[in-house]
Amino acid sequence: MKNSSPQDNQDLTQLVGVGPSTKEKLGRLKIYTMEDLLLHLPFRYQDRTRSVALNRLRINEEQLVTAEILDVTPSFGRRRSLLVSLGDDTGFVNMRLFHYSRYQQQQLKPGLFVRCFGSVRFSQRGLEMVHPEYTVFEEKPPEPEAELTPVYHTTEGLSQNKIRALCKQVLEKPLNIPSLDLELSDASSISPKLKTAIKRLHRPNPDDSAEKLSLARERIAREEFVAYFLGRKQQKQNARRQVAFALPRGLSLGRILQQQLGFALTVAQGRVITEILLELESDTPMLRLLQGDVGSGKTVVAAFAAIRAAENNYQTAILVPTEILAEQHLGNFKQWLEPLKIEVVLLSGKLGAAQRKKTLEAISSGKAKVVIGTHALFQSAVHFCSLALTIVDEQHRFGVEQRLLLRNKSSGSESVSRIASEKSTGGEIVPHQLVMTATPIPRTLTMTLYADMDVSIIDELPKNRLPIKTRVLSETRKTEVIDSLPKIAESGRQIYWVCTLIEESDQLDSTAAETAANELSALLPSLRIGLVHGRFSTQDKNTEMQKFKAGDIDVLVATTVVEVGVDAPNASLIVIENTERLGLSQLHQLRGRVGRGDSQSHCILLYSEPLGATAKERLKVMRSTNDGFKIAEEDLKLRGPGDLQGTRQTGDKLFRIADIFEHAHLMQESMQTADTLIVENPELSKTIVSFWSDKQSELANV
Ligand code: ADP
Ligand code: MG
Repeated sequence: MKNSSPQDNQDLTQLVGVGPSTKEKLGRLKIYTMEDLLLHLPFRYQDRTRSVALNRLRINEEQLVTAEILDVTPSFGRRRSLLVSLGDDTGFVNMRLFHYSRYQQQQLKPGLFVRCFGSVRFSQRGLEMVHPEYTVFEEKPPEPEAELTPVYHTTEGLSQNKIRALCKQVLEKPLNIPSLDLELSDASSISPKLKTAIKRLHRPNPDDSAEKLSLARERIAREEFVAYFLGRKQQKQNARRQVAFALPRGLSLGRILQQQLGFALTVAQGRVITEILLELESDTPMLRLLQGDVGSGKTVVAAFAAIRAAENNYQTAILVPTEILAEQHLGNFKQWLEPLKIEVVLLSGKLGAAQRKKTLEAISSGKAKVVIGTHALFQSAVHFCSLALTIVDEQHRFGVEQRLLLRNKSSGSESVSRIASEKSTGGEIVPHQLVMTATPIPRTLTMTLYADMDVSIIDELPKNRLPIKTRVLSETRKTEVIDSLPKIAESGRQIYWVCTLIEESDQLDSTAAETAANELSALLPSLRIGLVHGRFSTQDKNTEMQKFKAGDIDVLVATTVVEVGVDAPNASLIVIENTERLGLSQLHQLRGRVGRGDSQSHCILLYSEPLGATAKERLKVMRSTNDGFKIAEEDLKLRGPGDLQGTRQTGDKLFRIADIFEHAHLMQESMQTADTLIVENPELSKTIVSFWSDKQSELANV
């Protein structure tokens, strides 16, 4: 069993090759402990276990080649390059390097051998591999690797090789990971042990079948589901001993907001606001999920709840996943609440020392009634005076544990303990919780995943919205699409251009976005082209987003950083590249960036060949409906167990490894396992929950 704290044997710097800088980079991938690294599973594999004979090379596929160097010629065509001719008993292939050092040129000598791994393409001079990974050998090279090579998600400055080496190190360590191996063993005898499953997924044998790998994923998914349900049950058990501040109807400042909004609330918004405000009147802690499609107007609903807390002289904390979103909320809440004399602050990770001190004081004195922030809200320096309500936006990014941490922040202050002791119940005081999500999931899954929560649904979009018109086009028609942009810009509308080229690294994505921005700037000199991607600092991202919102940019080229919650109502076209790689929920989220104003919006989904059957189905679904719940139902149908390839891992995952669609069939059973376990083995239950909880907030809390 795990009985050591994250501090002693979990610190990543104990690994060879991890210093402060690598540690910081791993943090960007949300890897903070060895366990996190262990659970950072590859999203695909390369087969370097056998060399392909040169007469059997397949075009556009990554392959391992072992051959002799026949000739090396620098070539001075349009672009300088080094052409290395390779041969084996069966045929020939060229290796072409555009960037190479003198050392490389000297190292590559006819008569020596190379082993290279890369994709093969046609060229004027026959088959060639451009910049493959290669190693030079004096003699005939030894046998290739015995296991498939994992490919991991990584980030700028952290190479595939580095992260591979780190995962390998962790796998070789005698790590004690808690598991339900015994508890789950009789359920399915073909299911591997947890550790075996993790190892298998990091380093499969070449002959491991897809089913075998899928079973390994299922094994981990079951563990994670059980941990999730255990966490929820613990929370529920605690809830019996908890009370919240009752927030009765008071000055009715909400009425004033309603008059000043500039739009009429939808019927659905009105209904959920009533549901929420009614529940806030009681001192039983609210635990409510607010589900509403992208653009359905959840933010303003949150504002009404925050107003209710403020007019009772209590604070509201609003937790969001990204700084962009935090800034955007700050803008909205200020506009809505400041006329009502309710002070709103933003606690950003990027505040200067003086500003930060001032903000912290406003929070601890209770002057700031609404506090918006990212993870920065978890820091131990943050003390609320009288926190009565927490609102978590885009909740899938935050685990149960994180919400608990935020909740615990309210119990420390004096005023709170005083009021608590005045209460006859004498229970622990916790804030009411409102959790908002734009990820529509099928109703059956909602009922299982959120069985312990009340659910409010906004099932209607504001009246002014016209349904987005979606077209699916082959990448070959990109020029046509580009040519159509100036007309849109001239009519005063704006455009998103989303690049999602490569899934391995935000660095490569960023490069793709830069290239696209350059290309668009060159082709459309009359338009103002903007750019945001993951390599921008938060501040630069914000500046660029603000410029876009203000209309100072016509086309915003972006990576998927624009995905979550960003609101620029004047944007009426979104073009998304490489959509064959994206999952339905991410496509839907991205498309939701437009259609937020009152003009007709369009979405163009570009795909490149080859388009697999499932990808084709997904695009068809996107073309046929705008309804997030319908899309979610289709997603559930399209993604059976074992379909792990082909969709990009997104930040909006509710679980680390389990996928609610792919593993939906395991949910019910996992819930029952949790039911039994929490009674029969509370100790193990605790260990499991803590193992699976997100470590980021725990670390922020020290
Ligand atoms: P989401 O539910 O995706 O978080 P937002 O809260 O960001 O959606 O709202 C999207 C946009 O719609 C915002 O510009 C918001 O001000 C606007 N909006 C919200 N409710 C209404 C309404 N009832 N009528 C018109 N516009 C609305
Ligand atoms: Mg939102």
